[in-house]
Amino acid sequence: MAIKKNPPFPNNYAKEFLVLDHGKGSYLYDSDGRAYLDFAGGIAVNSLGYGNKSLEKSITEQVKKLIHVSNLFTTQPAVDLATMLTRSSPLEKDQPWEAGKDPGYFQAVHFGNSGTEANEGAIKYARLYASRKKNPNGHKILACTNGFHGRTLGALSATHTEKYRKPFEPLIPGIEFVPLNDAEGLKSILNRDFCGVIVEPVQGEGGLTCMTKAFAQELNRLCKELDIVLIADEVQTGLGRTGTLFASQSCGLEPDIITLSKPLAGGLPLSATLLPQKVNELVQIGDHGTTFGGGPVTCAAAITIWETLNSPGFLEVVREKSQLLEDGLADLIADSDKLGFMKGRGLLRGVEVRDPELLPNIINRAKELGLLVLRSGSNVIRLAPPLTIKDDELYDGLRILRTIMEEV
Ligand code: PLP
Repeated sequence: MAIKKNPPFPNNYAKEFLVLDHGKGSYLYDSDGRAYLDFAGGIAVNSLGYGNKSLEKSITEQVKKLIHVSNLFTTQPAVDLATMLTRSSPLEKDQPWEAGKDPGYFQAVHFGNSGTEANEGAIKYARLYASRKKNPNGHKILACTNGFHGRTLGALSATHTEKYRKPFEPLIPGIEFVPLNDAEGLKSILNRDFCGVIVEPVQGEGGLTCMTKAFAQELNRLCKELDIVLIADEVQTGLGRTGTLFASQSCGLEPDIITLSKPLAGGLPLSATLLPQKVNELVQIGDHGTTFGGGPVTCAAAITIWETLNSPGFLEVVREKSQLLEDGLADLIADSDKLGFMKGRGLLRGVEVRDPELLPNIINRAKELGLLVLRSGSNVIRLAPPLTIKDDELYDGLRILRTIMEEV
């Protein structure tokens, strides 16, 4: 393995890195030429795998034309992408986006550069919505225990994990937490002191727990009744990862705002905060902004991603592969007393490891055997392979996992 020890990165990162050099399809290669089957996908980013020709073409053609203009100007890729995203609706279950269709549920898109920034924007828009309404709600935000929304101070304040928060306190005030899927808790806590609720339909970092339909329904109802902005953080779950365009669709969540990032621009940094008319009509010039967000290169890449995901049959194939992975993991769990429940949905899947102390060994052993996997929470093996992964590659990965579970 090509390992680099102690590069001059801050101590918040590992002391040892696998040095990757290039990728092809579902495989990554280290600088010694060793292959790794990628079930990590750059943390659920590389949805089309590596070396996708259309993605390469859209990026290189745009790089040759124009790289940056700032948000004082715009470019055709930014306008086209925003138009595509505003024509999508999480409410239209399983309906792929179609060119030329009427504008959908969202009216505007604020482009940024990362997931945390998308959520930072969403929290600001929720606060702005409340403060500009004639009869404003309070400024509080509700989030879920075990949720993860990012590392900048606003998004971090809505992130539950103590370890990430503690060294940076005091964080922004007025953020409260409720356990995901605790509909009764939700009812007792939510009131007009809140301007927004931010939730993940599947908790990507916090253990891959899926939102139940009952919880989603209660959230929809209460947010409508109390005029609270409902934000779906689909930074990790969005754009086909769980088998539907948005994961909100599978649990029936009806968000006012959706945040997207990881896979949006095929590995280039881009985020989108999708806004409904009721929020956008209260926003004024200068309220929010960014220098790099929505640059022409990232937007050109994102158009290719969007068109690929929405091409006929693409998500259907993702669902077929998801089923295959689910079946394989179910067999694995049935054969190993070290594994617990299956978690996640679609191609964002996980398996609970009964003894959390085994998890680092499993991840390291997988790497040694040429398979890259992730962790989620303290005890879940997280798998987020490219959406384009082939069936036999899924079987190969499952076989490696089986070998490891027989060893540990
Ligand atoms: N929201 C969710 C659900 C995430 O999974 C992540 C990152 O893992 C973020 C927000 C933060 O994204 P970024 O690391 O791009 O800031």
